[in-house]
Amino acid sequence: MNEKIELIGLSRDELAAELAKLGEKPFRAKQIWHWLYNQGVTDFSAMTNLSKDLREKLSAGYVISRPKVVARQISSDKTSKWLLEFADGQRVEMVYIPEEDRGAVCISTQVGCAVGCTFCHTGSQRITRNLTAGEIVGQFLVARDAYNEWPTPANETRFLSNVVVMGMGEPLHNLDNVITALKIISDGEGLAVSKRRITLSTSGIAPKMTRVAQELGVKLAVSLHAPNNELRSKIMPINNKYPLEEVMQACQEYQKIVTSRFITFEYLMLDGINDSLDCAHQLIALMKKYKIGAKFNLIPFNPWPGCAYKPSSRNRVMAFSRELEKGGYAAPVRVARGQDILAACGQLKSKKDEEDKKK
Ligand code: SF4
Repeated sequence: MNEKIELIGLSRDELAAELAKLGEKPFRAKQIWHWLYNQGVTDFSAMTNLSKDLREKLSAGYVISRPKVVARQISSDKTSKWLLEFADGQRVEMVYIPEEDRGAVCISTQVGCAVGCTFCHTGSQRITRNLTAGEIVGQFLVARDAYNEWPTPANETRFLSNVVVMGMGEPLHNLDNVITALKIISDGEGLAVSKRRITLSTSGIAPKMTRVAQELGVKLAVSLHAPNNELRSKIMPINNKYPLEEVMQACQEYQKIVTSRFITFEYLMLDGINDSLDCAHQLIALMKKYKIGAKFNLIPFNPWPGCAYKPSSRNRVMAFSRELEKGGYAAPVRVARGQDILAACGQLKSKKDEEDKKK
């Protein structure tokens, strides 16, 4: 017997094509889309505006699934972290970071990562595979289920208001699936997270950044972490392949297409490595040279067992931030969240994988 087809993650056109195979008109796809992504149903029998006959055909040939929740930790500051498992047993992490009246869900795009940034715990886990579009969207659906945010309210007062594609993996190494997934997440007749509230973070895969601007137009964050090629290549070996000049030119292109948005440059503060005032001056010069509408996000480093770096002192981080601001760039320091729940990306997965091996 053929395996059932997963509906979560199909684009609108793909869903319509499946319905056409069943002899149904395109408006049925629209109705089902609404059930899947506005109402969050996981059972065909709940789709009450479809005929009984169609519901039966759908349950015979299709499924609506969610990733399995293997573990969930909730920090004292209400940050929530899930370890999710897919049908083949592969696992990724997802995090929800609540603010007062809104919050961001941080989703993963790959199991492991091939980029190998030296400060990153996920980077030490190698790449296993790309996630499908359904597995990427499925993470957000799990968060919606957990916070009972169904149906999708028409107004903007929901808690899961933002999506950041900043979890495990390099999204631009899995771009086709990421594009499909983010189009689903931003679709106004479904999950309806506006593109202004979606941020995609890349390590700087320069040749693919323009496609993100053209096809998605979401906010862009670039992991910079160093102001020159020599230092960046040491911290992020991907810089040997796509050096700063190429990354900055790709940022310029991005801003020609997505004109209204600043690009956020993520900058991890590593003690004695990239946190001198001279580094701040070089960053300012770099942004001015390429005329990028930029802001910085200074990130206190969250060390993990076996890592080679230490976090910069608070004083050093603040001095660095002030220097960038003097140069004309906003440079807030990210507040560390979920410190008590192994918040560094990839740590919960490693810990659970080890525990499960011992069983
Ligand atoms: S920081 Fe991102 S791109 Fe770099 S190794 Fe980690 S997951 Fe991959």
